[in-house]
Amino acid sequence: MIKVLSVTSECAPLVKTGGLADVAGALPLALTAHEVEMRTLLPGYPAVMAKLKKPKKVMELANIFGGNIHVLQAKVAGLDLLVVDAPHLFDRVGGLYAGPDGHDWHDNPERFSALCQVAAKIAREGVDGWCPDICHGHDWQAGLMPEYMRGHADRPATVMTIHNIAFQGMADPKSIGRLGLDPYRFTRDGYEFWGKVSALKAGLMSADQITTVSKTYAAELMTEEFGMGLEGVIDARRDALSGIVNGIDDSTWNPTTDKAITPYKSVSGKAKNKTALQKEFGLKKSGGPLCVVVSRLTEQKGLDLLLQALPTLLDRGGQLVVLGTGDASLEAAFRAETRHKNVAVHIGYDEDMSHRVIAGGDAILVPSRFEPCGLTQLYALRYGTVPLVSLTGGLADTVINASPAALAMECATGVQFSPVTANALSVALTHLCDLYASKPTWKILQRNGMKQPVDWAASAGAYAALYKDLVK
Ligand code: ADP
Repeated sequence: MIKVLSVTSECAPLVKTGGLADVAGALPLALTAHEVEMRTLLPGYPAVMAKLKKPKKVMELANIFGGNIHVLQAKVAGLDLLVVDAPHLFDRVGGLYAGPDGHDWHDNPERFSALCQVAAKIAREGVDGWCPDICHGHDWQAGLMPEYMRGHADRPATVMTIHNIAFQGMADPKSIGRLGLDPYRFTRDGYEFWGKVSALKAGLMSADQITTVSKTYAAELMTEEFGMGLEGVIDARRDALSGIVNGIDDSTWNPTTDKAITPYKSVSGKAKNKTALQKEFGLKKSGGPLCVVVSRLTEQKGLDLLLQALPTLLDRGGQLVVLGTGDASLEAAFRAETRHKNVAVHIGYDEDMSHRVIAGGDAILVPSRFEPCGLTQLYALRYGTVPLVSLTGGLADTVINASPAALAMECATGVQFSPVTANALSVALTHLCDLYASKPTWKILQRNGMKQPVDWAASAGAYAALYKDLVK
């Protein structure tokens, strides 16, 4: 058994703002089939603390950023959790990373430094008789973990996974002492990034191995267009970098057992869910495809392009249902589109509704400018909902474009477009409507999608192989 400590700032089903939580929540269970025992170290936000039943105190750290920290051990939803109970850092009304006013918590560097300090202590001393062979950190919030472990004799091996390089965990250099960082490593070869401390760069420079969530994103990260300033760092560490595509949690996203919908085994079972979705969103029947979006409404997701290309879909009798929340301007713009009888929008975050929307849609639209992996297109494949995606990152790796050759070979699963512009999206929407108009072709696309192996089996095996190499 290889013992792995997963260090993460979110984890489904306890706390989630995006795909990272899905991955952190599903991977430990998927790894049990590969002789890997993963425990998850997570901040004790109110939503996490509320779900702990009879937690056991297993570690104490005195005076970390003005308060004592207890580490609590508990099992929730099949996950072995180690929770950082630090009310002065995590017991707050607001989001995981930002307050109710939408601004980042001013002490985010300290909050996630505390998470990493606990990880480093567990790496050094073990916890309740359990010593990890590997510490695996996710995104910038875990970036200081390998940095704090540098130079420790017999330290566990370290892995950093980049879920989204847009978030880099910047801090003022004045905080170097307070964060317990080695000032001599505030250099280009250390954690310095354009005159600031970057927690993500610290992790990328110090970890033994780096992974990201698709092969295409791994290659894109070494380019100026996608590396967000860290392309040189990634390139310098290319020998330690690999791409492992995310899977989906089959127990949550499975159309045959999904309690949020009318379950179905084959594409014919989608009709009931489509009718129910149209009713729920006040849409009438229409001749074109019912396209859906489940997404954060941000620049990354390219949904401003959809606003521009929308007339193409509506002219063909297509419909649009949007479930999302995010930038106020995009929320308002989508709300305004509901003046069309074939557009319906729900601004908010709603897990159950996301299942109904994905099951009821004919097609899902994911026109992201960049997408490390993307999960909604994977859910859609599993549910026989045809993905229309931009040709980038994980979207490029998980959808097979309905080119004439792929259609002839009956292996196509969706539509891809490039470059990521409103024009190209408009052309892709026309292609989608044409495919939808040919019922036999559409059915083949749906069936091919439902047959794709999108669960964790293969990718959990890839993580397990990486861990095995590291502990050799
Ligand atoms: P990202 O992590 O960049 O937001 P992903 O596609 O990797 O994008 O993961 C997004 C996750 O969040 C998916 O599980 C998706 O279903 C979920 N999600 C996004 N927006 C909403 C929403 N408004 N309501 C419910 N679930 C949502």
